[in-house]
Amino acid sequence: MSAEGPSALWCELAWLGGGRAEEGVLIELEGERISSVSAGMASAPPQATSLAGLTIPGLANAHSHAFQRTLRGRTQAGRGDFWTWRRRMYEIAEAIEPDLYLTLARATFAEMLLAGITAVGEFHYLHHGADGARYEDPNAIGKAVIEAAREAGIRITLLDTCYLHGGIGREAEGVQLRFSDGSADAWAERVAGLEAGAGARVGAAIHSVRAVDPEAAARVADFAAKRSWPLHAHVSEQPAENEDCASAYGKTPAALLAAAGVLSERFTAVHATHLAEADFELLGGGGCGVCLCPTTERDLADGVGPARRLADVNARISLGTDSHALIDMFEEARAVELDERLESGVRGGHSAAALLRAATTGGCDSIGWTEAGRIAAGKLADLVSVELDDVRLAGTSRDHAIESLVFAASAGDVRDVLVGGRFIVRDGAHLALDVAAELDEAIAMLPE
Ligand SMILES: [Zn+2]
Repeated sequence: MSAEGPSALWCELAWLGGGRAEEGVLIELEGERISSVSAGMASAPPQATSLAGLTIPGLANAHSHAFQRTLRGRTQAGRGDFWTWRRRMYEIAEAIEPDLYLTLARATFAEMLLAGITAVGEFHYLHHGADGARYEDPNAIGKAVIEAAREAGIRITLLDTCYLHGGIGREAEGVQLRFSDGSADAWAERVAGLEAGAGARVGAAIHSVRAVDPEAAARVADFAAKRSWPLHAHVSEQPAENEDCASAYGKTPAALLAAAGVLSERFTAVHATHLAEADFELLGGGGCGVCLCPTTERDLADGVGPARRLADVNARISLGTDSHALIDMFEEARAVELDERLESGVRGGHSAAALLRAATTGGCDSIGWTEAGRIAAGKLADLVSVELDDVRLAGTSRDHAIESLVFAASAGDVRDVLVGGRFIVRDGAHLALDVAAELDEAIAMLPE
């Protein structure tokens, strides 16, 4: 990575948050921030570095489990459902150790950067060694994940996840012992020892109502509130979760979390695929975010998230690549709209600009990087340029550049990526890492 970044960038086209792209946008930088933005400059001034194509704010991946990158391709064969997939995922989780995770997560985060993702929310629950044995440093794996992000060059919020039970009323067992701190107090004590650092922040997560009882969820929420941390939870990903929650507590997962004091403007419900009628008001009225992960939800046969209805109640939408069946935020963004079309028979429930906001601003806000995700003076200079003259996007017009980007671009169209005003990816290549080789090497060390 270059020590000094450019002092100004001139973008052929840039998306500044509106309904269409602006032409000839000059973005001046001061250190890691944007100092000014002006549109309508026909050619690049001499001091500016030119970015061809369309420039957008860095994409934000609000829900990731980095180790699950290993499963790509390996879980696509045969029949099954979420629960059969989970058994394969547990086999990988069994085999992870801190050094291996550093290599695997660094490569996975570098793949994200190549796809234009400049900030990730890592929903991290793999805390301990075999059978739950504590590492000498009980945060050894969390720190390895933060270090991996630093080495790859991506911003991270480590959403340190409380995971206590193997299901409602069931003890954690097998590999779940690696996830469990035993109690919410022990979780809090361990997490208090985590330090972030430049480009890294810490937040909290409740794995799900399956893995965290309401009293423990309330303790986690209180801990996060005192620190103004973002707080995430998997909510209603599967009908079986709703059924277990209803029979144990007589409530939906969202209502149970609401009663435990979990819902707030800092809270993001991940998936929210199978919501009951009253859940929409709880999440929307509570000012909560919802993170949809359509490529994973497809892959796991979870169902189609009710994105239009969530937007109608003003739930703030963000997006995540979750299990990394793919790492392509353009695919996540268009899937929100296209999957709903198949169910509803109606087109155009979400504009391209709204989907792009979910993939940028929405994600940054959800994981606590509110000073990123927008091209505006004072914001962090996290920027992505997408070339428009390759065969996939040739013919793109300025007036429909946002629609072309969201509905036709792929991660492979990303050309340049800056984080904090410095190039991390240039002309489609990571400047510090051979990403494919690192992925091959790390994945080869894990069970087939
Ligand atoms: Zn997840």
